[in-house]
Amino acid sequence: MNPALRHDYLAALGLESWVARTAAPGGREAGVDWPELKSRVAACTRCALCASRTQTVFGVGDPRAQWLVVGEAPGAEEDRQGEPFVGRAGQLLNSMLRAIGLAREQVYIANVLKCRPPGNRDPSPTEAAQCLPYLEQQIALLKPKIMLAVGRIAAQNLLHTDVTLGRLRQQVHHFGLSQVPLVVTYHPAYLLRTPTDKRKAWEDLKFARGVCARV
Ligand code: SF4
Repeated sequence: MNPALRHDYLAALGLESWVARTAAPGGREAGVDWPELKSRVAACTRCALCASRTQTVFGVGDPRAQWLVVGEAPGAEEDRQGEPFVGRAGQLLNSMLRAIGLAREQVYIANVLKCRPPGNRDPSPTEAAQCLPYLEQQIALLKPKIMLAVGRIAAQNLLHTDVTLGRLRQQVHHFGLSQVPLVVTYHPAYLLRTPTDKRKAWEDLKFARGVCARV
């Protein structure tokens, strides 16, 4: 992302700007790489969630993936294992991806928050705003063709809206200044509780696959 635009964007959110530590020959900003970003997240104390986490949950997957799947925050098992979308919800996400011809290893999976909110409560707006620059950096490194926001909380935080998930589905949104196409669908944990909505999730996945094919 253009450094000036990024600075303005973060300033509008009331956040500090990322500062590159080094410059490439010719004065071009080098920016952070994956290992540096991961170590910054692991050491992060920007919000109070650092005090209660077992570990940060950075994200997992192919660093050259075309698809970026984004959930809201780590749950108890993710906090223990350090990986997003594990357990039954993770297995269902894997099945959803397989249904559109993607293995889990072919996509990149991350959350809006890198630390677990105690008791699996929803992220607060402040926590989401504090953590979102890390996801922005992941997107800058990954350069995905499409983002799939899973669940209402992720979608609302990524799109800065309080519109219901039902009204956000089946549309092409665009994320942040990078303007990556973004499609919204249900969280697999919700689908485990409400299997009758799996058909709608399947429609969303097909819709997202079509969007990706056109990018
Ligand atoms: S949730 Fe994000 S901003 Fe808060 S401490 Fe964890 S990594 Fe830092």
